Amino acid sequence: MARHRNVRGYNYDDDFDDDDMYSHSVEDDYGISPATAAQFIYSKRGRHQSFSEPLEEEEDEYDDDDKSRAPSTALSPIDQARLFSCLDQMREVLGESVSEQIMTDAVLQCGFDAAKALDQIFKQESNTKKSGTQEATASERPGKGKARDVPSADTHIVPKIAKLTVSGNKQTMGFAVPSASTEVNGQSSITACTKGQTTDDAMEEADNSALSPASSNTSQVSEDLNSTPSQGKSSGKSKQKINIKEELEKRQGGKQLLNLVVIGHVDAGKSTLMGHLLYLLGHVNKRTMHKYEQESKKAGKASFAYAWVLDETGEERQRGVTMDVGMTKFETKRKVITLMDAPGHRDFIPNMITGAAQADVAILVVDASRGEFEAGFEAGGQTREHALLVRSLGVTQLAVVVNKMDQVNWQEERFREVTSKLGHFLKQAGFKDSDVSYIPTSGLSGENLAKKSEVNELKSWYKGPCLIDQIDLFKAPQRSIDKPFRLCASDVFKDQGSGFCVTGKIEAGYVQTGDRLQVMPPNETCSVKGITLHDEAVDWATAGDHVSLTLTGVDIIKINVGCVFCSLSEPIRACTRFRARVLLFNFDVPVTQGFPVIIHYQTISEPATIRKLISVLHKSTGEVVKKKPKCLTKGMNAIIELQTQRPVALELYKDFKELGRFMLRYSGSSIAAGVVTEIKE
Ligand code: GDP
Repeated sequence: MARHRNVRGYNYDDDFDDDDMYSHSVEDDYGISPATAAQFIYSKRGRHQSFSEPLEEEEDEYDDDDKSRAPSTALSPIDQARLFSCLDQMREVLGESVSEQIMTDAVLQCGFDAAKALDQIFKQESNTKKSGTQEATASERPGKGKARDVPSADTHIVPKIAKLTVSGNKQTMGFAVPSASTEVNGQSSITACTKGQTTDDAMEEADNSALSPASSNTSQVSEDLNSTPSQGKSSGKSKQKINIKEELEKRQGGKQLLNLVVIGHVDAGKSTLMGHLLYLLGHVNKRTMHKYEQESKKAGKASFAYAWVLDETGEERQRGVTMDVGMTKFETKRKVITLMDAPGHRDFIPNMITGAAQADVAILVVDASRGEFEAGFEAGGQTREHALLVRSLGVTQLAVVVNKMDQVNWQEERFREVTSKLGHFLKQAGFKDSDVSYIPTSGLSGENLAKKSEVNELKSWYKGPCLIDQIDLFKAPQRSIDKPFRLCASDVFKDQGSGFCVTGKIEAGYVQTGDRLQVMPPNETCSVKGITLHDEAVDWATAGDHVSLTLTGVDIIKINVGCVFCSLSEPIRACTRFRARVLLFNFDVPVTQGFPVIIHYQTISEPATIRKLISVLHKSTGEVVKKKPKCLTKGMNAIIELQTQRPVALELYKDFKELGRFMLRYSGSSIAAGVVTEIKE
């Protein structure tokens, strides 16, 4: 598990070009350690236990329904929750084809075992069918006979499309796609939602011309593969090179993909806001919402009903209970959004950071209430840390949601007060004014989320977009599909069948089944026997996709997490010595020659030493102000030479921004961010 790291380097996009960041006072309070990172990602899960709200009496619009729930009322609250959870699982299979009463009876008879209860119902059904009219084929009785295959669209709960689950020391990407959504949306909509992280630099710069268009794959041999890939449709035999841009266009269906993470101080209303938004967008049916209302009421936290929409992810953690990054898909007019829901747990910080690192853009939620905003913003609050974390992970665009505006009577004055304080700080943190927007909302009442608010007090002074429109306005990043293929392994494991699997995010280029790839280190070649994207076998995948590759032709023993799979014609270089430009964070110990550090780069963390201090640079101009300094102190900008213990596959930042950034840590604290300027050995 701990092998899996994906700490993205501090964002240098603008900085490296114009040194903007270097001149800011980020060092004032910047320093993210695994310990502090725990609080960076909100955990709705824990909060369910910690809040005890007075029960809100809410009208039950489903009173009629409750007859069918009659037996449940005699149950203890825990058993009721178990019952509802079973019913929910069963509805995903049965849809509306079986009455709740029948399902409830089956659950109770089967001791809250949803699988057994389903079996029981199917048995009963087939008995009924046998004894019933023989002509009644399944097709003639769509309601029942086809229930399993075609669940009612109503069963479509929040379409969680992906999970990054770490179980023991095996990490897999499991994709929990409710069958309804698969059937309804078809593969394209599913694949459309896995955009991986494409860095902001690519987005901002669109300057891929530095590298000649990838010839990487064109020379690849379609050598093969003794057998048809086990993973379905991929033939693996003589293949034609595809036009990746066209294929991608088809797959995306004209909509751009965007990964979104929601951050902010605990209690700012993040979950309520996003849960309510998903509800308003029609991603949560009334029945499910009713279930959340009931469950949250029972738990004494009625005001958390919307927040529980996103907590559904947690219920599905069955394997190994480690950590997963649930992704929820929703769409705006022009975008397919993957909402990154990365529940925080102290033990899984690296994976948490990985989850946040996949974001292209972020929503920062702050509580407008008097005293609450201040508590979240001041030292110790999470507002600043979260903003700094996502910025350091490469996010440049931010929508600041000034939430709970209902609590301050929608006052413009309060909104301005909050936004001006935040604006100043965010600028210091490296966000450009033009990339930050501010939206007043109420997550609880739903004002200004899916449509412009009708509240007069707000309408009178706020003329900007509502939240969903603001999300639509985010600029989508460009993927480096024209560059040579690069995938950094985040896991390596033996699966059934021949060969083995590696998972990881494609950083650049694309891959097709049958391609031959090089692995650096250890400088071996292998063949791609199969590609799996979202649990679906596919023929190709491209930059931004999180995939699993089935490989043959190389011994699994030689492959480790952190190995980079790349094109044969333009492979990545592996080295133990390289030079880099670094920005030192707030760190009190002077950095001298021989200083031991851990390099966090892509999925690896590798021990290294600072071999040489080459020069100190001017923060703004980048000119050398001192050669061969004796030591480096906080806030300095310098060129250093690093020596790793084992070879690491790296790229120059100028060639591949995604693969040229790293972070340096020492004793659990991030001490510097760097970009590779020269590869020595
Ligand atoms: P999180 O910790 O940021 O995810 O916050 P939650 O979504 O769990 O919300 C914390 C509390 O704030 C809950 O009791 C919510 O009902 C309440 N809350 C959230 N949004 C609003 C809002 O817009 N107005 C009011 N008055 N309360 C809200």
